[in-house]
Amino acid sequence: MLDVGRHPNIELLAYSEVEKVEGEAGDFRITVRRKARYVDEDKCTGCGACKEKCPTIVPDAFNRGLGQRKAIYSWFAQGIPSTHTIDPQYCRQLNGKKCGVCKKGCKADAINFDQKERIIELEVASIIVATGYDIFDPALIHEYQYGKIANVVTAIEFERLLSASGPTGGHLDRPSDRAIEAEIEELEKKAAKSQKVIGKFEEQHGESSAEFYTRYEKGEFKGDEEREKWAERYKEHLAIVEPLEALKKRAEGFSAAKRLAFIQCVGSRDARFYPFCSGYCCMHSIKEAIIAHEHGSETTSTIFGMDIRAVGKGFEEYKVRGGNNSNIRYARGRVAEIIEGPDNNPIVVYEDTRERKVKEEEFDLVILATACAPNSGVKQLAEILDIEIDRFGFYKTSANQPLDTSRPGIFVCGCAHGPMDIPESVAQASSAAARAVQIVTASEKLRKAS
Ligand SMILES: Cc1cc2nc3c(=O)[nH]c(=O)nc-3n(C[C@H](O)[C@H](O)[C@H](O)COP(=O)(O)OP(=O)(O)OC[C@H]3O[C@@H](n4cnc5c(N)ncnc54)[C@H](O)[C@@H]3O)c2cc1C
Ligand code: SF4
Ligand code: SF4
Repeated sequence: MLDVGRHPNIELLAYSEVEKVEGEAGDFRITVRRKARYVDEDKCTGCGACKEKCPTIVPDAFNRGLGQRKAIYSWFAQGIPSTHTIDPQYCRQLNGKKCGVCKKGCKADAINFDQKERIIELEVASIIVATGYDIFDPALIHEYQYGKIANVVTAIEFERLLSASGPTGGHLDRPSDRAIEAEIEELEKKAAKSQKVIGKFEEQHGESSAEFYTRYEKGEFKGDEEREKWAERYKEHLAIVEPLEALKKRAEGFSAAKRLAFIQCVGSRDARFYPFCSGYCCMHSIKEAIIAHEHGSETTSTIFGMDIRAVGKGFEEYKVRGGNNSNIRYARGRVAEIIEGPDNNPIVVYEDTRERKVKEEEFDLVILATACAPNSGVKQLAEILDIEIDRFGFYKTSANQPLDTSRPGIFVCGCAHGPMDIPESVAQASSAAARAVQIVTASEKLRKAS
């Protein structure tokens, strides 16, 4: 990516959308909408000083909503270009309120609230579509209760939890524990406020609220309005601190997730959704289990699957190494359902097809290996490009011309036309570039000849 950013023959138009494509192979005219970042790309140094004091905190989509970001943000730390962007949906200043804190913080004077989106035209000989994929929505498989049981996460969410730059700094904190910790934080703020209120009564009457309340309950102070108020505020205070103490006690027992279950083929090889194998998920589950074990040597992982598809040179050895060195158990069986047990622990119900028995097993965290689904923007872009999509919703190519779309001069590579891993996507990108060059060369020859 860095090389692309620096390459003299590559112009990177990030935060932009293709709006219209006219012409034909060798002579396309593309209309591109360059969205307003409200930050000058040429001035922004990517230092991040602008976001330090931004008061607007929103869910961070890059971290799949598991963390938070500011209204001014960079998509992720290593992104190219490293420019920051103001999110117009949330920014106070752009929504008619007074703010501008980021502008004061930016030493490079890069913030520009008056920036407007621009429409630009490009003339190109050939087009390569590399828009990738989306993950299958596991909530569609109701029996896995994704979105209902907090400790059932997708593999991509799990990658963010494992990442040192992720929302937990690489600690395998369980989502249910994090939710309780957030609740404790909220309740502590409320408790501090209500403590202030009852503190005033205590100061005034030289007595603790607990002592006063015992006497109040015995029937003293009847008709005393001031003390009625105190009793009321004290009851409100107890309604905050009692659950707070219970949650704090519960939180004392929190520790990193150690018993992990990976469920394969979630949406893949499933006639209800995508009948094909997504190809990469068996290997990414093994990879994630190995990394989790590197984080904590007590971590154990069970990978539930119909079979493990370790297709590729060295992949089978990697799988065996995971089993031998990283506490990974491969359980042959399709998971029927996940239910929630005590302490928010997911319980996996599955048929062990080796022993021909239905079993239940409790885990700290369940990770779903979701299918490779078509990118949600496929239909719209297919219409703009006037290219066909296949019955699964990926861009259509033919078996003997695997990079060619239905429109001459437009090629496709990577997961935009079907599941594949990174090395395969990179190799396809090179091949697609070579196919595109053929069109460029032919059109140049034609131009010179005419
Ligand atoms: C949890 C998980 C872990 C994985 N781990 C591995 C691994 O360890 N090794 C491995 O080899 N593979 C792994 N994979 C597979 C890997 O993610 C894919 O092989 C790879 O991302 C495919 O690359 P791509 O460029 O085709 O698509 P993508 O990575 O999806 O990139 C497509 C890009 O296009 C952009 N885009 C989309 N629409 C538009 C548009 N209309 N205009 C402009 N831009 C657009 C997207 O924002 C995105 O940046 C993993 C997959 C998952 C789900
Ligand atoms: S104007 Fe305020 S809310 Fe908007 S990005 Fe800047 S600091 Fe954040
Ligand atoms: S790679 Fe493994 S998990 Fe993914 S669809 Fe194929 S068999 Fe299922």
